[in-house]
Amino acid sequence: MSIFDKFQHLAAARDELLATGIMPLGAVTERLFSATEGVVDGQRVVLAGTNNYLGLTFDPECVQAAQRALQEQGTGTTGSRMANGSYAGHIALERELADFFGTPSAIVFSTGFLATMGMMSTLAGQGDTILLDADCHASIYEGTRLSGADVVRFRHNDPRDLDRRLRRLSGGTGSTLIVTEGIYSMLGDQAPLREIVAVKREHGAYLMVDEAHSMGVLGATGRGLAEELGVEEEIDFTVGTFSKSLGSVGGYCTSKHPQLELTRYANRSYIFTASLAPSVIASTRVALGILRSRHELRAQLWQNVEWLYRALERQGYKLGPHPSPVVAVEVEDRGQALQWWKSLMDQGVYVNLVLPPATPTGACLLRCSLSAAHTPEQVEQIVSAFASLATPDEANRLESH
Ligand code: PMP
Repeated sequence: MSIFDKFQHLAAARDELLATGIMPLGAVTERLFSATEGVVDGQRVVLAGTNNYLGLTFDPECVQAAQRALQEQGTGTTGSRMANGSYAGHIALERELADFFGTPSAIVFSTGFLATMGMMSTLAGQGDTILLDADCHASIYEGTRLSGADVVRFRHNDPRDLDRRLRRLSGGTGSTLIVTEGIYSMLGDQAPLREIVAVKREHGAYLMVDEAHSMGVLGATGRGLAEELGVEEEIDFTVGTFSKSLGSVGGYCTSKHPQLELTRYANRSYIFTASLAPSVIASTRVALGILRSRHELRAQLWQNVEWLYRALERQGYKLGPHPSPVVAVEVEDRGQALQWWKSLMDQGVYVNLVLPPATPTGACLLRCSLSAAHTPEQVEQIVSAFASLATPDEANRLESH
């Protein structure tokens, strides 16, 4: 009996992939020319699988701010804020996030994963109940496991199922926390937040929304789905990440409840890990400023979204339910998905290949994510690459699904 026996099924799956000669999961980005172009596995490609929604990873102001911080404050903080103390930049970023969301305070974490997992496991405990959308991200699932709370999953984007399950709860004295995402990362679909808010109100529950994929993407000022739908006042906790629209790494939680500050002293994902490097904080602060001031980036992003989504729809692909910066093509057959991923690469287009069980529907996904930085020529290259994949027969087969 080896400690590694439990990974045998993974070895089998990996060997199966290796036998095809196509290894999307091991793709290596060797060079980058911009936010949207680079060399992956020796092939010059348009990057269409990065979550770099506003295209800020190469923004000159962000890069310059990071360089300056690197020179003035060094490469890392070498410890947690609780033990070593905060740098002024951490506190400034928290203030700027609170100002952006119109909340009393915000807490910055070292990744988005830690923000979500840490907040959930800290807020909910024994005797409490967490209701989470079945398609929630792994960080949310990890948070529920660590919390010790009772956990109930409700059907994806189904407020009626949420309501039904809340009614079935036995009426204990604990608190109830509902958790959803804004835009879901795999199919790009949005939570019906207005309806979820109505259910939350009726049951006196708390609501946390993970806006990882919707910050900078939705809402008149880019605050996310809650802003887009006009329900921000009803959201108790907003969590998110710096690793998508803000082009760096890190995460945050903000809340209308001033007691958020207290959770800092109980949150193990905050207390027991090194804080973000000064260069990361510096570029994130500049990126947040750009997100707040350059609204044309969001408009450009949505122009690219509409173009790609409608073109792939016309080509007969099965897509997520509505246009979104995540444009996911569903492919039932695994071998077909692998071949198509390779064919896209050969045509200079890099997308994410996502295989079950990581996908919500059981189908494989060729998952594209769009950026404000994609040029019209690059979007056209993505469209043409997909057009070349489906023979008329295959396209018909897809349409009939
Ligand atoms: N929440 C959601 C909904 C996500 O999709 C992700 C990352 N894909 C995270 C949290 C974690 O964020 P990060 O990668 O910045 O740690």
